Amino acid sequence: MPSIGVVGGGIGGLTAALACLHAGLDDITVYEQVTEPEALGAGIQLSPNATRVLIALGLRGALAQAVFQPEGVHLRTWRTGYLVASRPLGAISEARYGAPYWHVHRGDLHALLLDAARARGIRIETGCRCVSAGEDERGPYVELESGTARHDVIVGADGIRSMVRSTVFQSGAPRFTGHVAWRGMVPAAKLPAGFVLPAATVWLGPGRHFVHYYVRGGELINFVGVVETDRWTEESWSRPGDPAALARDFAGWNPVVTRLIEAADEVFEWALYDHEPLPSWSRGGITLLGDACHPMLPYLAQGAAMAIEDAWVLSRMLERWEDLPAEGLAEYERYRRPRTARVQRESRRQGQEFHLPEGWPALRRNFVLALGSRLLPEIAMGQYDWLHGYDCVRGFD
Ligand code: FAD
Repeated sequence: MPSIGVVGGGIGGLTAALACLHAGLDDITVYEQVTEPEALGAGIQLSPNATRVLIALGLRGALAQAVFQPEGVHLRTWRTGYLVASRPLGAISEARYGAPYWHVHRGDLHALLLDAARARGIRIETGCRCVSAGEDERGPYVELESGTARHDVIVGADGIRSMVRSTVFQSGAPRFTGHVAWRGMVPAAKLPAGFVLPAATVWLGPGRHFVHYYVRGGELINFVGVVETDRWTEESWSRPGDPAALARDFAGWNPVVTRLIEAADEVFEWALYDHEPLPSWSRGGITLLGDACHPMLPYLAQGAAMAIEDAWVLSRMLERWEDLPAEGLAEYERYRRPRTARVQRESRRQGQEFHLPEGWPALRRNFVLALGSRLLPEIAMGQYDWLHGYDCVRGFD
């Protein structure tokens, strides 16, 4: 049975640890740089391709307390709020894909995964920052600020600034995409009942868009406003932003958007980075997972979902190749690379479509979306089957 060291106790690292345990691999240690994880971040969307993994890990009951199940997705124009297109989620999506579509506060999901991992006996070493990783004649190792740890398998789940990636795969730094996201959370009680519909709503404007949805059982409304800009290039999840600058970026937008912005007590600015797809992300007994190997723009809402899928596939490959873990890692990468590269590409394309300039380009987009949504709803919904219908729990051969 291989011993597994997971670097990074975020969404992907903790799910990988839980999935490995579920597969019968019980010698797992997670090394997390943060001493006591706080409820950082804002909303995260969990589509059925991810929720089926979390449910298979026995987390449905715990998640049900924390999530919000949206009725649908609405695409609207930025000023008048004209409903360009909509797609059902809720019970219709659950029946189609066999798993729910949920919205959740990242902090709630993270806390729940951490509690489950601790309760199931997974070793979590907090305050343990990795400075490099490698493999020598004695096998894979990870250099922590506190010393060296050795395992049969090292999984770099240490996010977009991965030390495992940069020291083992010498991959270069992620690059600024020219997109900055404003994030905020508003207590639903601050707005009149029904003012914000129980759907994920995307407001489409030239060079920018605004998304909002409920989390935490409907208690909070999460929003993200993305603007194309060259004004700033720092990447951080917790950098406070200036509410007046956010209001300026969305001045003249629909009152739902401007009221949400006014109601936020604090806002955060988050520069969006991505990375060219890596030529490879497994070597010997070392591999990568989640944002460490395929950071992506958030426009298909798949960052967490891809890390969760990775975690399940990795655990099944390590189970299958219990005596030859390096083979298991190579096979894991073979399965995951084409899918995650497609999601990276499609996320970028979705951003371009959201941000089309006013006039003919936006009119043409709106016409096509409206036609599909109203006259061919089955076809419009089927466009997401490749993404949301992916079922790694059932199998991926
Ligand atoms: P992450 O969830 O980023 O986890 C990486 C983990 O590795 C973190 O716990 C980090 O502390 C740890 N780590 C990093 N470097 C080291 C090191 N050298 N040694 C040890 N540990 C290390 N996405 C959204 O869509 N919306 C959000 O609001 C949002 N907020 C976020 C807030 C935070 C604080 C973080 C870390 C990420 C956030 N994300 C958010 C990103 C989202 O969680 C990821 O895109 C997605 O879940 C993929 O997960 P991951 O496990 O690959 O990476």
